[in-house]
Amino acid sequence: MALEGDRIARVGSGPAPDAVELGRVVILPALVNAHTHLELSYLRDRVPPSTRFINWIRVLMAARRQFPDPSDPRILRAAQEGIDEARATGTGLVGDISNTLVTVPLLRDAGLGAHVFYELLGFNSPDPEKRVEDARAQAREVGRPDDSLRVSLAAHAPYSVSPGLFSAIRADLDGEAARVSSVHLGESQEELEFLKDGIGAWRTLLEELGVWTDEWTPPGGSPVEYLADLGFLDSRVIVVHGVQFSGEDLATLRSLGVTVVSCPRSNRYVGVGDPPIESFYAMGVSVAFGTDSLASVQDLNMFSELAHARRLAPRVSARTLLESATLCGARALGFERDFGTIEAGKRASLITVQVPDGVSDVEEYLLSGIQPGAIRWLEHE
Ligand SMILES: [Zn+2]
Repeated sequence: MALEGDRIARVGSGPAPDAVELGRVVILPALVNAHTHLELSYLRDRVPPSTRFINWIRVLMAARRQFPDPSDPRILRAAQEGIDEARATGTGLVGDISNTLVTVPLLRDAGLGAHVFYELLGFNSPDPEKRVEDARAQAREVGRPDDSLRVSLAAHAPYSVSPGLFSAIRADLDGEAARVSSVHLGESQEELEFLKDGIGAWRTLLEELGVWTDEWTPPGGSPVEYLADLGFLDSRVIVVHGVQFSGEDLATLRSLGVTVVSCPRSNRYVGVGDPPIESFYAMGVSVAFGTDSLASVQDLNMFSELAHARRLAPRVSARTLLESATLCGARALGFERDFGTIEAGKRASLITVQVPDGVSDVEEYLLSGIQPGAIRWLEHE
């Protein structure tokens, strides 16, 4: 492999006079963490694991209220540490959810590839078009998109975003072909219950928050049916979690070309159960992985996420899981021209992982929970 500047110039085999001996390592394209919330990194160890999602949400909301200023130095410092941790564990591109856009300058300064999703919530928002217009203006203020960093609008979840706000976010997405968007979908049983009958823990919470409205009528179907009917889903929208997806949901997502981003460690942490990862693949859906935030996972190491995914999906090939954590993530974030594979023309965002003597199945070894000490960035050699 020959590098020129920050690009891969050639890939081939045979002797090369100025070759660098790397030792017993595997070279990988940098991993893609397709779903995280770096701005929540300050919540590490502040929100304990839960057996009920709604309880985890309540503790999360209470913890966030203790840090009302989005530019609180403690928030920024923790986000910076999160970025450093992602890099140290071999991640070169992130799909970062932000409600405040404070991570944009940090990501840009760090040179980490990022698609920042400026995530909107509003179950009872009186003027969704205006809301989206304002958010678009704020996204523009944080700088022009470039090869490393883009910002677009995203919806939080069906229980926190009104149909009108979904439509306005979708209209913004349609305003420019390169944009992608994201939504948390099919995460908890409570979400299914709420969309089916308009009852349960979400209804109670929305009432407590004073945002419940009788104008909202339960759509009656599954989360996927709901958003497909609203016209929100297509190949430019990633859906995160999918723990509760049925076979029918997965068939719909496949036909629409939607990527599911799975965060299996987070799912267990927040008490929603394990995602049906093998079904995702068996149904032919595009799958990427993410760690989710440090409020629901112990670290931002994508190799740890892969190790957990491997345990949940023993029948999926190691190669397929690795492709999800690289190319599929890059594609879902709209960065496949620069990231995700080792190919001439792509960015030389490459890592090496040390392979101990005696390892014969290298792909399987990469799913064993690689730690930062074994990872190096190739450009630093
Ligand atoms: Zn999330």
